Amino acid sequence: MQDIITLEVLSAVSENGFSLDELVFQTRELYEKEGLAGFVGLILRLTDERICIGMVQGKLNHDRPTCCSEPRYEYQGLLDRRFRTSVGEVMMKWRRLRCRNCGRTTIPLREFLGLERYQSKTSELEKIVAEVVSEQSYRRGSNHLDIIGDIPVPKSTAHRWVAQSDCDKIDTGQETFDLLVADATGYKRRPVKEAGVNNRGELRVALGVDKTGRIVPLGAFSGKSWDQIAAAVQGERSDEKPVADMLVSDGERGIAQSLARLCTGHQRCHWHVTRDLNYTMWQDKAGKLERKQTQKKLTAIIGIELPEEDFEKVDDADKTALTEAATQAESDVGKLIKQLVHKGYGVAADYLIRASRNLFSYVYRWLATGIVGPRASSLIERMMRELARRLKRMAFGWSEEGAAKMARIIIKRFTSAGEWERYWKQRLRIQGNVILVLRSITATDLQPLGR
Ligand SMILES: [Zn+2]
Repeated sequence: MQDIITLEVLSAVSENGFSLDELVFQTRELYEKEGLAGFVGLILRLTDERICIGMVQGKLNHDRPTCCSEPRYEYQGLLDRRFRTSVGEVMMKWRRLRCRNCGRTTIPLREFLGLERYQSKTSELEKIVAEVVSEQSYRRGSNHLDIIGDIPVPKSTAHRWVAQSDCDKIDTGQETFDLLVADATGYKRRPVKEAGVNNRGELRVALGVDKTGRIVPLGAFSGKSWDQIAAAVQGERSDEKPVADMLVSDGERGIAQSLARLCTGHQRCHWHVTRDLNYTMWQDKAGKLERKQTQKKLTAIIGIELPEEDFEKVDDADKTALTEAATQAESDVGKLIKQLVHKGYGVAADYLIRASRNLFSYVYRWLATGIVGPRASSLIERMMRELARRLKRMAFGWSEEGAAKMARIIIKRFTSAGEWERYWKQRLRIQGNVILVLRSITATDLQPLGR
């Protein structure tokens, strides 16, 4: 069904002619007074009128449910409504009708537009606000909104909107992945003295990567243990079904223990292992030079490159050589651990013993399946750096939930899977049901002049 509502622009123009300049000035004045919001409001008023007149006259719109079997509507009153939108504040009045048969009241336009009961803003504005505040501080964000729309959205309002929005929701679904990647980054959280909560918060992020390299956000958390995170990532999946073939992580801070059970295999991130070796040796009070030298040694041992050719094209002798290289590297790591123990570097030795279990999973996996996997979690490190940078710039003193929420928005926006746009597509319901054109209607007797 299609309804055409026509707007009339009242233009009183002099017979004596007018200048193009005056026309432009007057158009500008009308636009500045009414704006785009005035235009939207006008169309809403006309739509309301048309729907309500139809209902009062008993012409029912049959694809909508009615209040009772024999509704007879009467006009009950006009209600003021204001909506914040990206084109400014739309002000209008809409009608309330009452059914004389069953006594129920209804606001036809609200139902027609599919608005929530107390909705006071458009979803398109909410999207803009969420995007602006996830890039900048709320303070700068709300200044920015002054420019985008004709209506200022104060910092506190922007904050509340994002807090109430469910645009950050991540549905981990049932999909299984090639890789599960997890990492953490620190941020300044709002301390709570009474609860003994300091200002050092940690954001934890989990992503899935499929065989084509598509990155899917699985969650961002603050104040949650890796066990709780593992349960959230597993979601509805059954225990028997692994979330991913391989976990790639730095393995510390409990990631390995909790998340490895969701995956068939586990690859320790080489970049993290060498970095943390430096840190653990520092804890053991080793000198800087020695730390650097040991890091270099470890890098040289573990850096086994996979062949560049396709698995099938690599001959068996090379595969055997690769197996031997991995075995040799494992034994070399063992020797390095013994040296650390010998020198009394207990923290570093313990660390490397734990890490050594999953250093060469990428090699063995390739040998068994031909699938090339990463030996460093570099893909999530870029994301974590981006996250840390944004959170630092946005503000300090986040609540745990606020920071996690913002992180979810950021990872939804910056992973390749299009989660963010998909969510808004559902919310915005842009279906091509509104067509607006500017067209003049010429008097019938002038039509022979041709158009
Ligand atoms: Zn009724």
